[in-house]
Order: sequence, then C-alpha cells, then structure tokens
Amino acid sequence: MPSKSKILLIYTGGTIGMKKDFQTGALKAFNFSKLLQRVPELKLLDCEIETISFDNPIDSSNMDPENWVQIATIIEDNYESFDGFVVLHGSDTMSYSASALSFMLENVSKPVIFTGSQLPIGDLRTDAKENLITAIQIASLRENGKPVISEVCLYFEYKLYRGNRTTKINAEHFNAFGSPNYPFLIESGVHLKVNLELRLPLISNMNLKVHKNFDTNVVIVKMFPGISETVLSAIIAIPNLKGIVLETYGAGNAPTEDWFLDLLSEAVKKGLYIVNVTQCSGGSVHMGQYETSTGLKKIGVISGKDITTEAAITKLMYLLAQNIDPAEFKTIFETSLRGEIV
Ligand code: ASP
Repeated sequence: MPSKSKILLIYTGGTIGMKKDFQTGALKAFNFSKLLQRVPELKLLDCEIETISFDNPIDSSNMDPENWVQIATIIEDNYESFDGFVVLHGSDTMSYSASALSFMLENVSKPVIFTGSQLPIGDLRTDAKENLITAIQIASLRENGKPVISEVCLYFEYKLYRGNRTTKINAEHFNAFGSPNYPFLIESGVHLKVNLELRLPLISNMNLKVHKNFDTNVVIVKMFPGISETVLSAIIAIPNLKGIVLETYGAGNAPTEDWFLDLLSEAVKKGLYIVNVTQCSGGSVHMGQYETSTGLKKIGVISGKDITTEAAITKLMYLLAQNIDPAEFKTIFETSLRGEIV
C-alpha cells in the first residue's frame, strides 16, 4: 500500500488565523496552534500533516522579500522530508508572494500551494476551512507515485491557479482572486477536476535550486492622463533605481509626446530596465500595434506581454539580483521562466 503523503503547513499569518482585538476591534494574527484546534476535520484527511509557523505571524501587508526568503528556506530545509507544502498567507499580497516564490524555487518538483481566507477560521461563515482542506488535499494528490501538481500555485474559493498568474480582484467576495490570462489548473466541485495539459511539466531530473536575492531598487509607475514631466523625471532620478514596471494603457500604449519618450529613452540608455505591462486586468501588451507604443518599442522598452504586475515586479527584483548581462536582460525577461508569461 502506498504511504500517506506528508504535507508541511507553513503559517505566515493573514486573516485565516486572526481574531478581533478586544479593545480596538481590529483583526490581529494569533497563535497558530489555536488555528489547528479550530479545524478538527484535518485529522480526517488521508495524509500526515506537520506544521511550522512564523514566530510572529503577520498581516500580509507587512510581507517583504525577507519574509519570502523565510518561506523559501523553510521549504528548502524540509524539501526531502515532505511531499507537498501549503503556505497560509494573507490574501492582500498573496499574488506577489506566490509570484516571488515561483522564481525563487527553480526546478521545484513538488506542490507549493498558497491559500488563506477572507474571514477568520473561527468565524461561523468562514471560507477558511474549505480553502485549507482542499489546498491540503491538492498538495497530497499523487498519480503513479508522482505529484499531480509540481509548481507554485494559489488555491482560493474552489479554484487552483498558477500562483504567478494571479491577482487579488476583490476585497469583499470569497472569490477574491482572478487569473485573467491563464485558466485555472484545478476546479473543486463534487470531484477535483484537473486540467492536466495546463500544468507545468514535472521536472524530475534536476535538483531544487533556491534563489534568495532580490534587488528592491525598483518602482511601479501607473500611467494616467496628466502625468507630468516633473513627476516622471523625479521618479527616474531616484538614486540607484534599476527598474521600472510601467503600467500603460490597453495593449501597451502611452503618450507620444517628445518629453515622455525622451525621458524614457535617456533612462534606458543609462541602463534602467523599463517593463511595459498593461493596466487592463486581462490581455497582452503588443508594442507596435498602435503608433502610441511604437516609440516605446524603438527605445528598447521590455515587453511584459500578458504578465501580471505582481509577477512583473517580482521577476524584475529577482532578475536584477542575478547579475545578468545587460545585453541579455530583455530577452530573458520576455521569456517564460515559470509559466508567468506567454
Ligand atoms: N489583511 C489581511 C492580510 O493580507 C487580509 C487577508 O488575510 O485576507 O493579511
């Protein structure tokens, strides 16, 4: 008889484990052991679960690259002993963390599933139990002794998504995440319906390589009608700035005014990487489709194609820390590393 899957549950914080502060009424993270007491159903699952918690669980608005390294190190240290990992994380920045971890964990061959909830696990109407239980079930799925999922994913409200394709779309609904440019990998209904052909292929012949450096000298600039030369030039002049994710209109369009293109062109010549992503929730950048993006293409702006802003900024921070030859940076950025871009 095959042995039971071993799952490591990593608690970083988030609403799932929060409760109301008596005095202020605000939600605060609480002790992880109490979280497990609230889900006796976990004992019914056909897998062995061990848990590990951040010493100080955080609201995910406080997440930063150091915390990503903490999560990656826990996975690295326990990689051989477990079949899958479930990361409990606040929903606010979960898409950033899932994207970051996807870049950090090169050659991952086991499931790493991020999940959380909109209501605390102790709340009567909580969405936490379904998210937690199904995320664990998916992390323990195996077929012919091999994991069904072998990438960094995000599970929320009956859907499993590729983590670096997701974005938080709603602060109210239980259905809080979308993956506008890539279909879900699994849907949870009466059965778990796996879209086999959409998964990343299992990498079985290479060892896990964990990348722990990020360069945070980056910024996201969202275009808006009225953005001024003073504002944009001040941003570009930030000391040590190395990269900009530029959220443009539609299919990657921006003003054609001289001051705008000259500023960006100077920045690119000085070695700044500028990535063009669309501020639309779905679709792709196609530089050159309109006259309003031809100039950006000419000056060497990188095409973010259909990448999310969350994946673009984390990929930029990750690649900037990799000492990549500037002549190759654009091509590498525009290439899919973990299924994050078309
Ligand atoms: N503010 C919370 C957090 O991101 C929201 C949540 O957990 O859903 O930690």
